[in-house]
Amino acid sequence: MRIFYDTEFIDDGRTIDLISIGMVAEDGRELYAVSGEFNVQKLKANPWLVENVWSSLPTRRHEGTRCADCRPSGPGHLDLNHPDVRSRAQIARLVADFILTTPDPQLWAYYSAYDHVALAQLWGPMINLPAGIPMQSDDIVTAAKLAGLTPRNMPKQADGHHNALADARHNRVMAEYIDSVTSR
Ligand SMILES: [Zn+2]
Repeated sequence: MRIFYDTEFIDDGRTIDLISIGMVAEDGRELYAVSGEFNVQKLKANPWLVENVWSSLPTRRHEGTRCADCRPSGPGHLDLNHPDVRSRAQIARLVADFILTTPDPQLWAYYSAYDHVALAQLWGPMINLPAGIPMQSDDIVTAAKLAGLTPRNMPKQADGHHNALADARHNRVMAEYIDSVTSR
């Protein structure tokens, strides 16, 4: 069974720091988690990430303080008490459970190379990947190419861009569109 997933991450050219992960299995199960351990200051220093990724994360604001991040135009703080926000160790267990309870799991993502690294590093180096977790992720982009499709031909995502769960759901939409084209 296919699992469609997406990750958001901070990419500084040397490391991939997981921000959030969303997963959708073909049987309808879904998982969404935000890391409580990514480098928030680094994210806040990146205007693209603040505008596109931070905006859908659970945040909170201090009331009546002069905290710079809590100005009306400021980004606020990651809400570490929100139920979606978890430690990397917790996310690793949730993701492993999700994958290992899926019969014959296949991992699928869109431009999947970085997503696979962000996922696999939940367990540390490659050699620590638990048994039963796929060692690679299939790429919806490759499947589209093989089906003779270009990005222009693919279904468009209405909203929720760069929310990992919304993007994972759209990955499923794109994959099923490719299925419909290739089974014609
Ligand atoms: Zn504050």
